[in-house]
Amino acid sequence: MNNSISFVPTMGALHDGHIALIERACELSSTVIVSIFVNPLQFESPDDLAKYPRDLLRDRNIALGAGATKVWAPSYEEIYPGEITKQSSGQLGTLFEGAERLGHFDGVLTVIKRLFDLVRPDYAIFGEKDFQQLFIIKRWVSQNQIPVEIIAVPTIRDADGVALSSRNSRLSPAELVSAQVINKALRSKSKDEMRKVLASEPKFELDYAELIDEETFGPVTAKTSLSRGIIAGWINGVRLIDNMRMEADQ
Ligand code: AMP
Repeated sequence: MNNSISFVPTMGALHDGHIALIERACELSSTVIVSIFVNPLQFESPDDLAKYPRDLLRDRNIALGAGATKVWAPSYEEIYPGEITKQSSGQLGTLFEGAERLGHFDGVLTVIKRLFDLVRPDYAIFGEKDFQQLFIIKRWVSQNQIPVEIIAVPTIRDADGVALSSRNSRLSPAELVSAQVINKALRSKSKDEMRKVLASEPKFELDYAELIDEETFGPVTAKTSLSRGIIAGWINGVRLIDNMRMEADQ
């Protein structure tokens, strides 16, 4: 243990996925800061922003229980005191999650820049659950030579393989069963098979199901050494995303 600072940015509604991030942070540093800030800039729909679950007291207890040394819930004014200097996520920011939610990744980078400037962490911990976000943040940190080490934590799932997400609380028990199709699809060996599995679940409305090269986030090519399946869609209006490394044939 050393004097470094590990930082876990979250939007609250903490679950075991966030706890895994905090526990990883505790392995790295004696000071572990967890932020709770629902960033309006990364929501496209005001409805989604309004519906985002908020319970600060509960979240504070969970974060401290997981080992956080400080839970920080800044106000909007603290994060955006004046004119907002927007960060750009580039072309990749307009694809996949960014295509559905215009400006989402610029909003993510903009808040991360402010949070990093205020916290000045040595390590920042992010989940693989949001793989495109993780990729965009890592690339932005490296391109802008930001002195923070980005640490990735594998996705935490429920016993049936559904990736934990704050949005899962909006699904009924039957819908949560339907959501298992995403994990099943990610265990496929090809993009076609992945899409076939997803199509077998009538409640799942597909946005995208793709195979990407983990190093470029572009299409898989002959040079690809690691590929990953990425899936997004809706169940009863609730947007779900997941991804997994894939030993694909194509
Ligand atoms: P959020 O509060 O949804 O913005 O997420 C905060 C952090 O928790 C992000 O780095 C997410 O990738 C991560 N996270 C969310 N769900 C999971 C999960 N099921 N497993 C691991 N990390 C997660």
